[in-house]
Amino acid sequence: MNNMMRWLRRQLDEIFCPTLDWVQIEVTTHCNASCIYCPHTVMKDRWANMHMPLELFCKLTPFLRNTKMIYLQGWGEPLLCEDIFRMIRICKDQGKVVGFTTNGMLLTEETILKLIDLEVDILGVSLAGTTATTHNKIRKGTDFDTVISSLKLLHRIKLENRRERPAVHLAYLMLKLNFHELNGIVSLAKGMGAKQIVAGNLNLILNPKLCTEAIFNDREHAEQYRATLEKIKDRAANENIIFHYHGPNLNDKSMRCSENVHCACVINVEGEISPCVFTTQTLCKDPELSKGQSTHYIFEGQLFPLEVLSFGNIRDESLTRIWKKRDYTGFRDLFDPEVVVKTEQIMSEMPRCCVKCYKRLGA
Ligand code: SF4
Ligand code: SF4
Repeated sequence: MNNMMRWLRRQLDEIFCPTLDWVQIEVTTHCNASCIYCPHTVMKDRWANMHMPLELFCKLTPFLRNTKMIYLQGWGEPLLCEDIFRMIRICKDQGKVVGFTTNGMLLTEETILKLIDLEVDILGVSLAGTTATTHNKIRKGTDFDTVISSLKLLHRIKLENRRERPAVHLAYLMLKLNFHELNGIVSLAKGMGAKQIVAGNLNLILNPKLCTEAIFNDREHAEQYRATLEKIKDRAANENIIFHYHGPNLNDKSMRCSENVHCACVINVEGEISPCVFTTQTLCKDPELSKGQSTHYIFEGQLFPLEVLSFGNIRDESLTRIWKKRDYTGFRDLFDPEVVVKTEQIMSEMPRCCVKCYKRLGA
């Protein structure tokens, strides 16, 4: 292809780029914590710590003109990425809604001031308890009191400066071990001006010891969990806080993924495009690192190897070209509520990693 044709093709790819609700970009795979359930911890002997190069990030951004939100998040702590503030600036200059989730350990006053100044829209903060004892036991390497005092500082600075952003969203990982503490989340959120709480599940189980910790596996008590979650939701609503939860009941017959795969995608630290974080290449590193052995996850008591679903790399092709590839559109159609696909066809064409995935069952 000559230069003129290449230029023209690129212009067309920029103009006809896909309309997406969000793109999740893994800006780093480094992390300063060792949460007990996280692949970063479980696979630490074969984990590749990397930052996304700014040059690769910039290769992507021209194709995001029709994307509403950029979430700078993957398997890692975004604030460890040396270019995070420049990346935020680039996205904000393009008028995007920008957010990321942090473990909260690097929220110094200086960083808080930068995030306010950059007008970051959403700051997700991960919690696994509403007391230091519980949270610190699960999210090892983080410290509940430090995280909470940073969030209170952020709240105070925002009030003093009459700034609304970043809106704080609390991401609470529900386990049997910490479920009872979820009762304290609304008052905690209120005290730091958080706008939203999302109670999520342990969807990717790598450690057999944690199987019984996933609350959706405790089917006998599903109704009790649901009733508690509904009460918390009502309490949150009274405080003008949105409380959203996944599960706790599983729908074994569900053919749809609870991730927004038909209107969003994940780009890993090396530029590979996948439908979700459970299928990125970050989790299935090359044989040299994994010593030729696959990592397995547990689904309904059985072990399955983690699988990569990658439809292309932004180093080689534009997001537009990758999004429009036949295998990618065919994959998305399986999950698109507006596309009628027969159940038998879904089950025969759906990759095994999706068939054997708690997210498909609504977790
Ligand atoms: S902070 Fe996030 S990336 Fe780091 S170990 Fe915990 S869950 Fe994993
Ligand atoms: S079903 Fe699971 S593996 Fe498949 S796209 Fe959804 S979250 Fe990813």
